[in-house]
Amino acid sequence: MPDPRVTPALRRVVYERAKGCCEYCRSQANFTTESFAVEHINPRRAGGATVLDNLALSCFGCNSHKHIKTSGIDPLTDERVPLFHPRLQQWSDHFTWANNFTEIVGLTAIGRATIVALQFNRNEVINLRRVLHKVGEHPPQE
Ligand SMILES: [Zn+2]
Repeated sequence: MPDPRVTPALRRVVYERAKGCCEYCRSQANFTTESFAVEHINPRRAGGATVLDNLALSCFGCNSHKHIKTSGIDPLTDERVPLFHPRLQQWSDHFTWANNFTEIVGLTAIGRATIVALQFNRNEVINLRRVLHKVGEHPPQE
């Protein structure tokens, strides 16, 4: 059920700020059958407010996998680190594309842990990226 505190006006601002892309895995809302969520980066359950600085546009998959997580395990070091924060960090500082833009690779501990926690490289998303790349619709512009 949508959060009643995320008003249509707030949702529109978040959507436009993100240019219609998931702020985690960069999936595009224009090419999905699931509606994107306005996600609380710091979960409401942990006191996260419904304000622009705490909201991110998120695809269904990332939103489901993130749920109330704010940290994850870096698979390289086994250390727990914070997840990527779309309001405080730049995507390209923590992630890059690989395998002809079908996979996302982590450049930092935060990037690697976020990829695992949110399962950025889900099989169906890789397939969609492959098809969209062939028709010139992927990766989305920064
Ligand atoms: Zn996503």
